[in-house]
Amino acid sequence: VFIHTAYQPNSVDFPEAADMARKTVEYFARKMPGYPFPYPNLTVFNGHSMMEYPMMVNDVSLDNTDDVIALITHEIAHQYAPFMIGVNESRYAWMDEGWATFLEYHASYGAFPLSDSMATFPGYYQRKVKATTDASFDLPLYTPTDLLFPNGYGFNSYGKAATAYTALKELLGEEEFKRCLHEYFRRWTGKHPVAHDFFYTFNDCSGKDLDWFWKAWFFEYNRIDLAITGVELQDGGIDRIEVTNRGGKPVPIELRLTLADGSQEVLRANPKVWRDRSVVSFYYGGDQRIVEARLLDDWYVDPVPEDNLWRAAD
Ligand SMILES: [Zn+2]
Repeated sequence: VFIHTAYQPNSVDFPEAADMARKTVEYFARKMPGYPFPYPNLTVFNGHSMMEYPMMVNDVSLDNTDDVIALITHEIAHQYAPFMIGVNESRYAWMDEGWATFLEYHASYGAFPLSDSMATFPGYYQRKVKATTDASFDLPLYTPTDLLFPNGYGFNSYGKAATAYTALKELLGEEEFKRCLHEYFRRWTGKHPVAHDFFYTFNDCSGKDLDWFWKAWFFEYNRIDLAITGVELQDGGIDRIEVTNRGGKPVPIELRLTLADGSQEVLRANPKVWRDRSVVSFYYGGDQRIVEARLLDDWYVDPVPEDNLWRAAD
């Protein structure tokens, strides 16, 4: 891929842009999505925008290097969608902005040293969720994008969709996820997939009926909200910690136990546990007494954090 940059001689951040673009293209082609870059040329132009075009991105200068990386990786990711696969970004923005946000995250962390781990997704999605008091923005992802303007557009199309794709990767495992993503790209390059083409391609390729997952992530009014709803400690026996999915979205579980000697252990569960139930139990049989249990929400930000923590009575 032949990479060009165009900028004014006094640009502060763009002398690095060609190298950033080279690393990004190489990362996309080899790691995630791990699929050949769709074009033989790419021009990174230092203009006054944050916008993608086929074989070109037009990016404003930014002060913070982390932001420059996130912007360049994001706009280059758009070469896969909506350009290589021609999704309808006016109707289904999550089908291009969601992937651009997901790939921006992977390339920003995988190909560069970032100084702030929350500079890109999932950081800005978390900040948005925490700052959003108006739940009327939080509509099902399948809601036509043209009906989301102005306030619900950013909230639904970027970080929320990237979070759905991240949960899908957790559900399938990285290898299977990439295999199905490649199949989706292969089938729909130069064509116009709608949302159901994406769902059906993943069902078909994985050989799994993922309809319950699509329904919960893309069609239902629900949210991310896990809670610790019971802890039973057994002296010298097996402890049980109960986690309830109050919100409804099938997210992975990360439950961190703090033990009496101060050590910690993290118990994990795949999002598939939510396929047919809303309550799951974790069992712990170690020697040490559990003094604290906490649901981690570094990725899948939980707007109701109060019920994510349990502490033993003194
Ligand atoms: Zn974008």
